[in-house]
Amino acid sequence: MLAQCPCSGGNAGAGALVLFGLVACAVWLVYGIARKDGVSRMSKIWKIAIVVALAAVVAVVIINKQMGPSPGTDATEGAAQVSQPAAGLPRLLDLGSVSCIPCKMMAPILEELKKEYAGRLQVEFVDVMANPDAGRSYQISLIPTQIFFDASGKERFRHEGFFSKEDILAKWKELGVDLSAGAPAQAPQASAGPTFSRLEPAKADDRPKDAICHLCDGDIDPKTAVTVKTAKGDVRLCGPHCYFIMYSCLTEDKTDFEKKVSVTDWADGKMVPLTEAAYLYGADEKTGRPTIKAFAGREAAEKERQASGGNILAWNVLQEKELATRCGFCDRAVYPQDAARVVTADGVHTWGCCSHCAMGVAARTGKDIEVHERDRLTGEMIVVKTASGSVASLEPKTAVAWFGLRKAPDGKFVSAGCFHQGFFVNEDNLKKWADENPTETGKMISIDQALADKMKLTPQQIQKACKIGECAPK
Ligand SMILES: [Zn+2]
Ligand SMILES: [Zn+2]
Repeated sequence: MLAQCPCSGGNAGAGALVLFGLVACAVWLVYGIARKDGVSRMSKIWKIAIVVALAAVVAVVIINKQMGPSPGTDATEGAAQVSQPAAGLPRLLDLGSVSCIPCKMMAPILEELKKEYAGRLQVEFVDVMANPDAGRSYQISLIPTQIFFDASGKERFRHEGFFSKEDILAKWKELGVDLSAGAPAQAPQASAGPTFSRLEPAKADDRPKDAICHLCDGDIDPKTAVTVKTAKGDVRLCGPHCYFIMYSCLTEDKTDFEKKVSVTDWADGKMVPLTEAAYLYGADEKTGRPTIKAFAGREAAEKERQASGGNILAWNVLQEKELATRCGFCDRAVYPQDAARVVTADGVHTWGCCSHCAMGVAARTGKDIEVHERDRLTGEMIVVKTASGSVASLEPKTAVAWFGLRKAPDGKFVSAGCFHQGFFVNEDNLKKWADENPTETGKMISIDQALADKMKLTPQQIQKACKIGECAPK
């Protein structure tokens, strides 16, 4: 038993001393009892004494094992971390309040970082409402503001507004601060993350320019084409629905905008002013998605109605119907059949015109949300629940997002717009879809990232999200 004692160095000396004392006490105790009770019981008492002494040895070994450092650790490092947690650590300082919505959304993130990076990152929160001097001394202009200090105490970066956990960690990485030192090893798939991307089209889009819808990039059916006259030339759209989407997200003055728009007579292909046409409004038998056919005269519309069904609607009724259902994030007109279904924690039902806009409802409302969105390849359902600006649950767990990107004239990659975003139940489906759509460009991202991208937007950016400036051809 003694041969297995792990004591070494200074601890071995202390252990031996304690052991010696205990054995001496036992011997003295036993000797005292023996003198009182007589010599006849001496051998039995000595046996008890040996057992007591051995038990004391075992106790010392156990005490030494528990108190002493485990083999291979640096005792001085452990002591420094306990007594001076701030020394030499990078520091994240969040200046906010306990009442503002984005500040409140930061709180669980700060808690998580504090726990997960204990001993590697110092995380601090200062309530500037309770402590206005702190806000002044850091010269912040809005809350929440996060300030990144390196281990030497030098400010390296600051960010205003909500900042997701993913973005905070990415920023530390970008700043060259390694927070992973000493971290438990992660499962390979968790650290690798989604990797697929395609920034150049796999196949050039060889369609003639006037056959491509300005808004959705879909094919223009000559029977339903819509034309919008602008100072820079005509804008062509695939049909009345894309016109209403465009109209719903215009930032320019919309007064008399309708006068610039013509629709195609479905029967004879001639152009008709938008507000003067009669509209045959039907529904796709399988999906229930609305179908719209425009006619110069009611007679032709009636003839088509008898053949294919539906209702004939005047312009203003059609407009009201089309603009009634909107994206809960960007306000675009949307058909529920094309949209992600979103329910907020307080029970409000709305839509996301694309998967990413659906996540944006959490940013716009500041509420936890539940998103039901279909895989763009197979139509399988993906359900995302958020809590305080992070993904709380994802079904199926393998789901990923496609972040559609296109190259802007200045060479930078920007969002390719709502029609080019999507969720998939897994990486394979996304890659298959990318194969089937060789002109799409973008990258695969995690659902967490899709949410984080929206959560970091300021209220001003949310207000401008997905909007179209002065209507002009591409
Ligand atoms: Zn279109
Ligand atoms: Zn939207």
